[in-house]
Amino acid sequence: MNTKAKLSQKALKVKESSTLAITARAKAMKASGASIISFSVGEPDFDTPAHVGEAAVAAVKAGFTKYTASSGIPELRSAICEKLENENGLIYKPSQIVVSNGAKHAISNALAALLNDGDEVIIPAPYWLTYPELVVLHGGVPVIVKTDKTTGYKASATQIEAAVTDRTKALFINSPNNPSGAVYNKTELEAIAKIAVKHDIFVISDEIYEKLIYGDDMPHVSIASFGKDIFERTIVINGYSKSHAMTGWRAGYTASVPEIAEVIGNIQSHQTSNVCSIAQKAALAAQIGGQGCVDEMRKQFLLRRDYMSERVAVIPGFDALVPDGAFYVFVDVSKLYGKKTDGAEISNAAVFAAELLEKKGVAIVPCADFGYDTHIRLSYAASMDDIKEGMDRIEAFVKDLK
Ligand code: PLP
Repeated sequence: MNTKAKLSQKALKVKESSTLAITARAKAMKASGASIISFSVGEPDFDTPAHVGEAAVAAVKAGFTKYTASSGIPELRSAICEKLENENGLIYKPSQIVVSNGAKHAISNALAALLNDGDEVIIPAPYWLTYPELVVLHGGVPVIVKTDKTTGYKASATQIEAAVTDRTKALFINSPNNPSGAVYNKTELEAIAKIAVKHDIFVISDEIYEKLIYGDDMPHVSIASFGKDIFERTIVINGYSKSHAMTGWRAGYTASVPEIAEVIGNIQSHQTSNVCSIAQKAALAAQIGGQGCVDEMRKQFLLRRDYMSERVAVIPGFDALVPDGAFYVFVDVSKLYGKKTDGAEISNAAVFAAELLEKKGVAIVPCADFGYDTHIRLSYAASMDDIKEGMDRIEAFVKDLK
């Protein structure tokens, strides 16, 4: 039987992540005894703060282990509203918040609520690799707007407007950005908001790295905060994975106008029901507890960002900006094209990554699936010792190229 031919055409369009291959190879090398440094991870290396874990343990002990309201426990949805009002100037009622299984699930819910087959979704590149795959899975068509280093890898309102067609349904904004670390400022976002309102398109604003911005004079701004017209069209995505080192707990959310929130809630009620009851109690503790832990992690990331950026800046052939947010350095390696290791010619970032892993045991992410095949992503969600050792190895690898 030709099984594949019978499967969902939409599902078949979803690609395997190219980063999986490198992660699998790094794991296999490690298992066979090789010394591997990983700069490939997309999660904080810190432990979840103790008070968050304790809240989860208390929830288990109290028997808080049954179904909850599908869109989330009321106290968590209220706490999220307070956060959005106090920190982002956004006023929602608890009924407008849907707590989901991480920001990824929140994005999937948002797309499920918005898209009809053939609807276009504008995605500035570089982008988090999941966006286009989820757009496709929900019947949409990703429209990629490529940015470059001269604008700090940020899309301008003009570029976005040029990509708008009569099929455009939505636009992704991700600030701070994975993989570039770019942070959009108020002026840039205001201009983009005007375009979204003018053309009546929705904005999916992924703010998951909100707490990881390194400039003091650089506040996080939500695009939803520029008045009623853009507020109505924006679905805010956020969660606890990056801010509170809670990637495994799976707790994120959408905030949107009642009409959208209701549809998202309905979808989730049939697809997954509530987020794990215990994880919701943990997320509540993260939201209402002291935020000193968040600031402490940010300080550590800042030290690592500075160190890694300094090392990257002096490697011949590497070209990168110092990232303003998130925990990645986004490096153009195209100047090294044509150079050779003793086994291969560097013809793209994927070959660079594969060779670096084989020769020096450093795992990094080649960014073709992030819309940029000339770049690599180095995560500094790693210990300072590993960052030092890994950068020594990368520098030696590049110097050895002929
Ligand atoms: N959005 C961006 C830009 C991300 O980089 C990630 C994770 O890497 C997510 C969303 C997903 O977050 P979560 O783990 O909460 O699903």
